[in-house]
Amino acid sequence: MRLYSPKYIREILDRFGFRFSKSLGQNFLIDGNIVRNIVKGANISKDDYVLEIGPGIGTLTEELAINAKKVVSVELDKKLLPILEYTLSKYDNVEIVNGDILKIDIKGLIDEKLGGGPVKVVANLPYYVTTPIIARLIEDDLNIESITVMVQKEVADRMVAGPGNKQYGSLTVFVNFYSEPRILLTVPKTVFMPQPKVDSAVIRLNIKENNTDVDRKLFFKVVKAAFSQRRKTILNSLSNKDLGLDKEKTKEILEKCNISPNERAENLKIEDFIKISKTLPSLNIY
Ligand code: SAM
Repeated sequence: MRLYSPKYIREILDRFGFRFSKSLGQNFLIDGNIVRNIVKGANISKDDYVLEIGPGIGTLTEELAINAKKVVSVELDKKLLPILEYTLSKYDNVEIVNGDILKIDIKGLIDEKLGGGPVKVVANLPYYVTTPIIARLIEDDLNIESITVMVQKEVADRMVAGPGNKQYGSLTVFVNFYSEPRILLTVPKTVFMPQPKVDSAVIRLNIKENNTDVDRKLFFKVVKAAFSQRRKTILNSLSNKDLGLDKEKTKEILEKCNISPNERAENLKIEDFIKISKTLPSLNIY
């Protein structure tokens, strides 16, 4: 029997005396179609090395093992390890690593266990740490080709929002700076056990080539400052100590970038933030 069968999941959980931990974001998939569609949407083939985050009892892992060359799954909850050993015993291309994805050496893991990459990341993410996990995966110059993940629908909407949209914010700019995001499917609460409170979506981020000519630290400082108070004009939000800018200097920068000082961050394109970051060093204050 396949692992997405609710009856089988209950049987396994009973046998191992496992209880769901809300604080670890444990909402397991119980729908075969969704599991297959995630793996299809990630374009997984027998040539692919896959990094999975949070295998749970191995439902998505199993589908990945059937379709990929090798799967390494990082699970934080020690109580799931004996279950995973049992449920995935017939697959010899899966390795479970016990650890916190926010703390482990991901580069070392890719080098040692996933042929150095490029890898495809696939996961039904624990929602309490969605953003830090994605930040870690895309910021750290890892050899990752794409990230296909289940997230809260509201978070997926923020990632793909365009300028002028209410959901457009620093997360949008951050994600689009590093990748091309695309929502693959929206997912109702009913396909999880236990059911979460919110609807979900599967999103794929195709990682872009490096934007090497931008000082990333400065870029994100600019974006953070710009969105820190959304209702302020860009002139006011960028005039702050963190950036070392007073109003005169900010005006000068915005003029050089052809951006109106009365504009609001939510109407600026990523290219505008890049332009500002590239122009700032001309003030010789960094
Ligand atoms: N993949 C399974 C599925 O789809 O049925 C389970 C997904 S569940 C939403 C999230 C999983 O991530 C849980 O197994 C949880 O224990 C694990 N997890 C939570 N925090 C983690 C972390 N920081 N690092 C690695 N795994 C984590």
